[in-house]
Amino acid sequence: MAKLPTSVDKIIKEHGPHAAYPPKSGFEGSHEPDKLVKTHCCYCGMQCGIKLKVKNEKIAGFEPWMEFPFNEGRLCPKGVQRYMQNNHPDRIMGPIQRVEGKGFDPISWEKAMSKTVSEIQRIQKQYGNDAFAMLSGVSLTNEKSYMIGKFARVALKTANLDYNGRLCMVSAGGGNKKAFGLDRSSNSWADLKHAKVILVAGANISETFPTLTHYIWQARDNGAKLIVVDPREIPFARTADLHLPVRPGGDSALFGAMLKIMVDNDWLDHDFIENHTSGFEETIEAVKDYDLEWAEKESGVPKDLIYKAAKLWGEANTSFLMHARGIEHHTKGVENVLSCINLVLATGRIGKPYCGYGTITGQGNGQGGREHGHKCDQLPGNRDITNPEHRKYISEVWGIDEKDMPGKGLTAYEQIEAIHRGEIKGMISICFNPLVSLPNNNYVREALEKLEFYINIDTFLSETARHADIVMAGSLHEEEEGTVTTAEGRVVKINEAVPPPGNCRRDGEILMELADRLGAGNKFSYPTSEDIFNELRVASKGGTADYYGITYKKVVDNMGVFWPCPSEDHPGTPRLWEDRKFATPDGKAHFNPVKYRPASEVTDKEFPVVLTTGRVVSQYLSGTSTRRIGKLIDQYPEPLMEIHPKMATLYGIEDRDLVKVKTRRGEAEFPAHVVETIREDTVFIPYHWGGKFSANQLTIGNLDPVSKIPEFKVCACKLIPTGKKGSETRTETAYQSWL
Ligand code: SF4
Repeated sequence: MAKLPTSVDKIIKEHGPHAAYPPKSGFEGSHEPDKLVKTHCCYCGMQCGIKLKVKNEKIAGFEPWMEFPFNEGRLCPKGVQRYMQNNHPDRIMGPIQRVEGKGFDPISWEKAMSKTVSEIQRIQKQYGNDAFAMLSGVSLTNEKSYMIGKFARVALKTANLDYNGRLCMVSAGGGNKKAFGLDRSSNSWADLKHAKVILVAGANISETFPTLTHYIWQARDNGAKLIVVDPREIPFARTADLHLPVRPGGDSALFGAMLKIMVDNDWLDHDFIENHTSGFEETIEAVKDYDLEWAEKESGVPKDLIYKAAKLWGEANTSFLMHARGIEHHTKGVENVLSCINLVLATGRIGKPYCGYGTITGQGNGQGGREHGHKCDQLPGNRDITNPEHRKYISEVWGIDEKDMPGKGLTAYEQIEAIHRGEIKGMISICFNPLVSLPNNNYVREALEKLEFYINIDTFLSETARHADIVMAGSLHEEEEGTVTTAEGRVVKINEAVPPPGNCRRDGEILMELADRLGAGNKFSYPTSEDIFNELRVASKGGTADYYGITYKKVVDNMGVFWPCPSEDHPGTPRLWEDRKFATPDGKAHFNPVKYRPASEVTDKEFPVVLTTGRVVSQYLSGTSTRRIGKLIDQYPEPLMEIHPKMATLYGIEDRDLVKVKTRRGEAEFPAHVVETIREDTVFIPYHWGGKFSANQLTIGNLDPVSKIPEFKVCACKLIPTGKKGSETRTETAYQSWL
């Protein structure tokens, strides 16, 4: 039996548990790099510009890229450490296969490919094409997102393709499409700097999108007022003019009440409402009974703060509203988004300088990844897979018969349910760690073990990859050329700095070879990433996410191009809706009535405490990469449960006491972090860890009916003090949470 490809144990032995990687064989810092490569940080949706230092074909460090317009050289703690992943000793250095009860053995690419293809064919012959599913990630480039959408429909011939943006941006997408007919933030962040009121809902900007904070501070320097809506007094809220400490699940009651106050006081733009919107009357009808007493009770926000926020927002001359997962991760995520958009439309402050609306994408390519067809209901250009015209157009681009194009498939969590029902028997996943990131993850683990064959393409052996039959060693952000689209809607260029190490392959090459062996090689012949992008441009042409006019050269020459960009002589569109022509069928922006309803699971006698989840500054999503970087581990080594001093006293809990948190899905122990910055009725646990450290053992798998996003942000729990303190040993092993 060969050793596991991971060398974590060896590193711990030699350097201690918090060893700062990379190993000594890398660049030692005192030499000049061979080259500096301009590219972007691989983590969040800001996609900050960065220059990677390359020495001996390894990433050896970084330098700020001062000229890149969004971040002008600024980077957050993750950004300055991101270079340590490429040359990391934990990298899977070639394909491996699971040997039952032992671990993994290295195998040849030939064996990995032929075994995979024969298992796909066996399962599809026995159970039908849709019995083999695919899950993908939106940290991947636009080119890979596009190719995966095509690979699933043309090579695998399955309807069941979905992506991990389903856990992230889909509620925003659902709301944007209903209101505007197009799914993108309306402005570049540059408009933030001169907005006079900024409302941020459910977005811990200073920890999850730190470089964006600079724009808010510039607005503050210019006199902007800041309203923050969040159950926690997040760092960013501490200097806000108004912090509205909403109870998780109470968002649409709050926003509905604000709209009612604006109507009552006539803080409205009647000309905009009359000429450029529809649905206003029905929308105000839905909130007509939302008086302040009711709103305070349902939202948990004191009524005087609700009134002050409505007044500040309603009377502003210029304004910008931004939201993120805090209001989107709900079974009413789309309704929450729409209730925010209603506030924007009521004031007409959109499509004008310093006036806008934005959803802050969390994942690296959270924006582009939701446009090019790797969602279960989507074709490139943000087209609809159930629309006959859209199917016909894309079938022609792909050179297939439209009747061979699969229909709408299952979303990510629905795929897990379908495995349990015995409908899905095989799966391929790429750059997705559902065992950490999906809710109710004991249920997810059981599903993975039920699969007859599971293939995982990744760069590290994630918690999920450990359940695979074969793991194919893929490529990192810096190992394959492409583009990504930032949270602003700006398409930027990712440059290959180094080739994949050892026996790893570029993800695109892996998919092309699999397609070839599945008999679709003639549809997947791309000599370069630019060839994929050029096909993507044509496939997106005429769709709402139109990239046709964007070329690699234009992206490089301009350090980014904003879509839509319908022709090569078009400059791109940093600010949408200046012409007041919205992308809806009637050309108007749509108000949408939102009637408040409670969360899918509310507190009761047995589970009396609200549990909410989120992120910390030093970790990215499921932590597959960031939980392996020593300095990021040191910054926040293990998940802590934030609890207010009053609730802590009630339970006799002191700081760092180990507390068992129990829900209807499972239970886990977390050290308490007693802080005054959280609501008295709510506890918070970050979700970046797996195994016994996983917050998502506790969260609920109930889905928003439109977006199918799970309700990560609210469920009911009980707290059981264990009488023990959190221990150093526990802290030191948290990053290896697969153990
Ligand atoms: Fe920028 Fe996000 Fe990377 Fe931080 S994690 S450096 S904010 S892209």
